[in-house]
Amino acid sequence: MRKNDTLEDWPWEHTYARLPARCFSWVKPTPVSAPRLFILNEALADGLGLGALRNSTPESLAAVFSGNRPPSGAEPLAMAYAGHQYGHFVVLGDGRAILLGEITDPAGNLHDIQLKGAGTTPYSRGGDGRAALGPMLREFLISEAMAALGIPTTRSLAVIETGERVLRREELPGAILVRTAGSHLRVGTFALFAALADRESLQALLDYTLRRHYSGLTAAPNPALALLGAVVQRQADLVAQWMAVGFVHGVLNTDNVALSGETIDYGPCAFLDRYHESAVYSSIDRHGRYAYGRQPAIMGWNLARFAESLLPLIDANQPTAIARATEVLEGFGPAYTTAWIQRMGRKLGLPQARPGDKELIEDGLALLEEHRLDFTNSFRALSGDDNAERLHLDHPAFLAWRQRLDARISEAGLAPAEIQEIRDAANPRQIPRNHAVQRALDAAEAGDSAPFFHALSILRQPFAPAADSLFSATPRETDQAHTTFCGT
Ligand code: AMP
Ligand code: MG
Repeated sequence: MRKNDTLEDWPWEHTYARLPARCFSWVKPTPVSAPRLFILNEALADGLGLGALRNSTPESLAAVFSGNRPPSGAEPLAMAYAGHQYGHFVVLGDGRAILLGEITDPAGNLHDIQLKGAGTTPYSRGGDGRAALGPMLREFLISEAMAALGIPTTRSLAVIETGERVLRREELPGAILVRTAGSHLRVGTFALFAALADRESLQALLDYTLRRHYSGLTAAPNPALALLGAVVQRQADLVAQWMAVGFVHGVLNTDNVALSGETIDYGPCAFLDRYHESAVYSSIDRHGRYAYGRQPAIMGWNLARFAESLLPLIDANQPTAIARATEVLEGFGPAYTTAWIQRMGRKLGLPQARPGDKELIEDGLALLEEHRLDFTNSFRALSGDDNAERLHLDHPAFLAWRQRLDARISEAGLAPAEIQEIRDAANPRQIPRNHAVQRALDAAEAGDSAPFFHALSILRQPFAPAADSLFSATPRETDQAHTTFCGT
């Protein structure tokens, strides 16, 4: 075992901290009164090459990850950024998150190690810099589920209870989430420096983002345009993956769009139970801006804001820059549609869906919506699961559609077992159903952590048959959680 296998001895890197001074503020975590380890993500620690964290005592992990005793190699800072929140430009920054630095995993990839809820920063704007236990456990649980579903996401390394109370709508137990990410660079990071007309910082961020996430493009003839194209493609793939599992991000502001292509910031997010294009769960999203079915369009809008920030780096002549950026942005719609047809096609059992399959997919979804059927379980029914949706799929309203599907599938000439394999790999049995997630979080806040750990064990195996139906059964109508909270 290497000596540097604990966070204390780890050779920290601080590449972000070498960017121009305006990109961040030095700030130390504010100590908390009685830190206690709630959970360490041992599998993630192993993957990061931090497996020796398993040998640390819970007390020591709590001291380090609460920020009470930051590792000696850390150089804590809060990142500067802006964002369009519900369409309006706002200067933000890490108001409660503190980056300790970066570490390199055994495969050579760099990861941010960030404490979320570690106290106020120069960007706190009157907020308390803290987080409540429930929302941090929600982020832990859902980011784990996303990773297990194969969807790019920031990860959760640990949750520490602070022993302090935070005041939201009521007093709640406080917590800190240790988040890891390919990076925390966002669309809003560039938006800040574009708004400040700080060309030097923009250029430095461009070089940095390319080196960190798109190293094959550093020598592109027009690096800014190349970055835009690469981010457009990654986000098109990401949103297609969300749509294919029924994920609703809930607060798709530009500060919550990571340039790495990872899903970031699990606030009022939820998964569809019944299929519903206009499903909204966030209590503050009154106009449905971030509804399930609007996510591709909103991502396109967010990428247009990214393109605007890059304009001065694309071409000194603004009309030329706009023309070139527009051309790249116009690729988002087709890239998304292609990715979506592929993903949805596999859910149906098609190994290689084609553009012409779009109508078949859309017609099937329209039937699910019309008959108010469970999204996940309808696809599981296609796979042969015996659930309530199965009865509906055999109903006359669906028969004509199923005949079209069967005819299309027979063209592919696959054996039934091969079709089954494609469907099984694309259709999870368990998703983080909101009513069950909420119950686990409520129990944890009330001092009973068992339901959280039970939920975690199921959601880490979304494709495997589970012993209980907590996350696979469609909730009763009265149980369907229609809103998640806004305050995190
Ligand atoms: P979010 O909605 O979590 O993406 O956060 C939006 C902005 O609000 C970010 O700049 C956060 O850092 C900031 N923020 C959220 N909660 C707090 C808090 N409790 N204290 C200070 N800043 C916060
Ligand atoms: Mg955010």
